[in-house]
Amino acid sequence: MREVANTLDLSARLEAWAGGDASRAEVATTVAVLARACGEIAALVAKGPLAGALGASRGADNGGGDEQKELDVLCDTTIREALKAAPVAALASEEADQAIGLDPEGTLLVAVDPLDGSSNIDTDVSVGTIFSIRPRIAGIDPVSDEAFMRPGREQLAAGYVVYGPHVAMVLTLGDGVDLFVLDPDRRKFFLVEAGLKVPEEAREFAINMSNYRHWDDRVRAYVDDMIAGRDGPRSVDFNMRWIASMVAEAHRIFVRGGIYLYPGDDRKGYASGRLRLVYEAAPIGFLMEQSGGRASDGKTAVLDLTPEKLHQRVPLIFGSRAKVERVERYLESGWGRSERSPLFSNRGLLTA
Ligand code: ZN
Repeated sequence: MREVANTLDLSARLEAWAGGDASRAEVATTVAVLARACGEIAALVAKGPLAGALGASRGADNGGGDEQKELDVLCDTTIREALKAAPVAALASEEADQAIGLDPEGTLLVAVDPLDGSSNIDTDVSVGTIFSIRPRIAGIDPVSDEAFMRPGREQLAAGYVVYGPHVAMVLTLGDGVDLFVLDPDRRKFFLVEAGLKVPEEAREFAINMSNYRHWDDRVRAYVDDMIAGRDGPRSVDFNMRWIASMVAEAHRIFVRGGIYLYPGDDRKGYASGRLRLVYEAAPIGFLMEQSGGRASDGKTAVLDLTPEKLHQRVPLIFGSRAKVERVERYLESGWGRSERSPLFSNRGLLTA
């Protein structure tokens, strides 16, 4: 049973962290403002169809190239408006082609995915907001794509809010990971667990199996070996999970462990998978590393990747460190070699 310390709210936690440090205070203010915006989004999401035809498509694509829904736009606007009260020079969002200027004097940059998994909204499955706070870099126009094309290692804070049966925020200020839960009555986030660690042992993996035929052989080999279960080279049975809502998958992994994969595949436009480096992979990577886990593109830690485009996609694998490193070993080896017994070198499973 985890220790519940629900007397400490987010603002008290942020205040304690900032102490008298002016730069920390700016990050703290920005986190607080984002948390408030997420509280509003939570209320909106909770209304479901009562809030109107929010799941309706706008018939347009967002900056990230995904179909845009009314609700995506509303969440984006909520965050953008809220950030006017924070020392933020510019905002990059999945919902906007280019960075948007806010406070010209601001020292920080924020990147967000306002509503991750929004295609699930009609089915009442968990969706989420992901955010990344970075320093404004001297000599680079903050209201430019370049300002955000920096390694995730530079992030000062990152987190997500998952709108599920309860609303949870998982946050790092670069000093471990904390789990907060929104009390809808008091309209505040309360600390539930400090120093969150990704559980190391879990026999769960999350991947979109319907793309099996599009994967590289080495990804197939890795998945085949898990599906072979007790009879395979891993000698244990695994369970598969697939929510198709990345934040919800990440949250399950923080709570219960496991691994998530969205590899690149051979479909047109999917060579680098479908997730975005700047506002999805980088913040998740920061959270993972701060909780003892790992997030990589199959080779390099996502925090060490420098984006070449604002909306760049990246293959993404995250979860417990040992599990991600295992995938990396499969990927670096020639197909069929890594940890494979001769028995399994002839792949029959799931192949037509
Ligand atoms: Zn997303």
